[in-house]
Amino acid sequence: MKIALIPGDGIGPDIIDQAVKVLDAISRKYNVKFSFEEVLMGGVAIDKTGVPLPEETMDICKNSDAVLLGAVGGDEWDNLPGHLRPEAGLLGLRKGLGAFANLRPAILFPQLKNASTLKPEVLGDGLDIMVIRELTGGLYFGEKGREGEGTEERAWDTLPYTYSEIERIARVGFELAMKRKKKLMSVDKANILESSRLWREVVTKIAKDYEEVTLSHMYVDNAAMQLIRNPKQFDVIVTENMFGDILSDEASMLTGSLGMLPSASLGKGTPGIYEPIHGSAPQIAGQDKANPIAMIMSVAMMLRHSFDMEQGALAIERAVSKVLDKGYRTGDIMEDGKELIGTNKMGDLIVAEI
Ligand code: NAD
Repeated sequence: MKIALIPGDGIGPDIIDQAVKVLDAISRKYNVKFSFEEVLMGGVAIDKTGVPLPEETMDICKNSDAVLLGAVGGDEWDNLPGHLRPEAGLLGLRKGLGAFANLRPAILFPQLKNASTLKPEVLGDGLDIMVIRELTGGLYFGEKGREGEGTEERAWDTLPYTYSEIERIARVGFELAMKRKKKLMSVDKANILESSRLWREVVTKIAKDYEEVTLSHMYVDNAAMQLIRNPKQFDVIVTENMFGDILSDEASMLTGSLGMLPSASLGKGTPGIYEPIHGSAPQIAGQDKANPIAMIMSVAMMLRHSFDMEQGALAIERAVSKVLDKGYRTGDIMEDGKELIGTNKMGDLIVAEI
């Protein structure tokens, strides 16, 4: 299996190294072969080639089976025009690979309960919610404009969705629900928005193909409240681009540890992109301080969603949990009585458990 590696900027290279170690361990354990090709994107690509997403990078990613991405960005590139900033590379990559489904699990390991701002009784034995955000349509891509002057000046954004755009993301939701607890929550604002009414109609229609899945609907304002009040009622959530942007950040912060959370951006028949949800944390780059677990959990998602290697994914997730059980912590998740370790040691311990 061919994997394009994009270390990127800041702590990206530190954590990508750990991902490769973990994949080597999986390769030995399950007798599968991974080949890696490292490519430039983000600030490092701007410095070396003048653009955040060189054509060569896009070509290699398109011809891979999956893409593993560290993180991009940093102060030194913040004053460049929008299309030349590191983030433009990220958006270009997602667009180029047709990634329309963004999967963001919010997983709280019971060992890290204290990192959450929620009360222990609300969290129970941990959290495991999957938020699926539609990534290429809706409010962020609809027609927008600005006209007029002075106090008459007006600006607008629009929220369009087609039947087929809703259908394909709904199917991702149902398929994932089938692999989990067979519960899908579709979030919309159908009491107000016409696009949400179409959303709800289509999702309800598609549900007929997945009779085992229990489908529910919730308005987005209520969903924002319920995530805090009783997050354990959710398993898989599927929603529009902007609603998903906000709710997935809210859900991830329930876990309180940015350094732990992976994500996947998937298209149809194109390589998936797997990356931690955190940024490049430039202030700790190259100091053996970054938590590599979000990156390593992204490798587990890659095995599960791109390579159909559920056993490999579980082996990684169990290894992470065991290392936490044994009391090892990087700085960002450190607590009294635990042992502080660096990026490399965390990678090595997880490899040893695998
Ligand atoms: P950040 O996620 O990089 O950092 C936020 C805080 O969390 C910092 O205190 C950081 O030290 C800490 N942190 C993040 N990941 C960590 C890890 N793995 N281990 C330990 N601590 C960790 O967000 P930011 O500071 O807002 O952004 C820094 C840069 O990253 C910016 O240039 C931003 O544009 C970029 N960024 C990139 C992505 C991406 O590549 N997908 C996402 C978000 C931000």
